[in-house]
Amino acid sequence: MSTAQLSPHYIRAIAPYQPGKPIAELAREMGLNEADIVKLASNENPLGLSPMAKAAMETALGDLALYPDGNGYVLKSALAAKLGVDLEQLVLGNGSNDVLDLVARAFLAPGTSAVYSRHAFAVYPLATQAAGAIGIEAPARDFGHDLEAMLARVQPHTRVVWIANPNNPTGTLLDNAELERALEALAVRSLVVVLDEAYVEYMDPRQRAPALDWLKRFPNLILTRTFSKAYGLAGLRVGYGVCRTEVADLLNRVRQPFNVNSLALAAAAAALDDGDFLARSKALNDAGMAQYEAGFRRLGLDWIPSAGNFVAVRVAPGGDATPVFQALLRQGVIVRPVGNYGMAEYLRVSIGLPEQNERCLAALAAILGKA
Ligand SMILES: *Cc1c(COP(=O)(O)O)cnc(C)c1O
Repeated sequence: MSTAQLSPHYIRAIAPYQPGKPIAELAREMGLNEADIVKLASNENPLGLSPMAKAAMETALGDLALYPDGNGYVLKSALAAKLGVDLEQLVLGNGSNDVLDLVARAFLAPGTSAVYSRHAFAVYPLATQAAGAIGIEAPARDFGHDLEAMLARVQPHTRVVWIANPNNPTGTLLDNAELERALEALAVRSLVVVLDEAYVEYMDPRQRAPALDWLKRFPNLILTRTFSKAYGLAGLRVGYGVCRTEVADLLNRVRQPFNVNSLALAAAAAALDDGDFLARSKALNDAGMAQYEAGFRRLGLDWIPSAGNFVAVRVAPGGDATPVFQALLRQGVIVRPVGNYGMAEYLRVSIGLPEQNERCLAALAAILGKA
């Protein structure tokens, strides 16, 4: 027997997560200059990071020989004040993916199940499977979550329902009233609901779900957010969950004691105060989304209206987008194929700087013979 076979079958069956192609890797493969490559593949912030976050990290460099504050007191205090919640309701993660994993570890095990939507964020099936639980996929509606279909698939052994709002890679947004009704129905079931709001900062305040108010009404709700997207700190890995104290207490017990490093803690606390950077990130994203929509319209391409910092565009109606993805790579433009999300006709493009978006659109036009 091979050593790998000692691992539980559900671990061996995990399909690896497919990250965006790194710039250095494409440069090596294609013999291109790194400076000539545009990466629009991982929903990263094209503005980089907040200058305040950078300054805070420089100050924190002096203490790197010491372990970080395992309770993340400074960041949690800043978050608690900003969100109007108690410190004890917060769980910090090495990226919000870490928080998703903590939820899976705390609530899932062999013999239980979790429900998620078709085309939903890939980490939900991964975290579910790694915990040995059964993943139940509900069909989508117009690429978005069909909450009624999700509710209908909840089983007595279901312990987690994963909801992304907006969802990645589709960018689809749920109707707040529909979402509220679903949370009401799920509040009386023996499970927790994860509402993943990784892109909430890109939404207009009027569009946003009153998720923090919902926490007061729904004891089984876990809200997750991240510093990776609008805050521009993807490389540092820091995100958080907000929930009832008793749930946060459980999640904190399965958490590694020093899961968030000192630089990330310092940067995130500083970034929270930088409203100017957030506003610039959102304005750039709004303009870039309009740029893509106009470009796609010119090229006669369909796209899925997106509330995130990315957009899924149908470059191969009735076919497979892989050749277009590869042709874009040859032109030094990295986007994300989403065939593994059941969306073979589409590519997901992250919103970049205006000139990066222009390069992507021009390359698409040339490849599709519409230049
Ligand atoms: C990017 C993303 C996250 C956040 O990932 P981090 O681990 O915080 O970098 C979470 N959920 C969704 C749906 C995402 O797209």
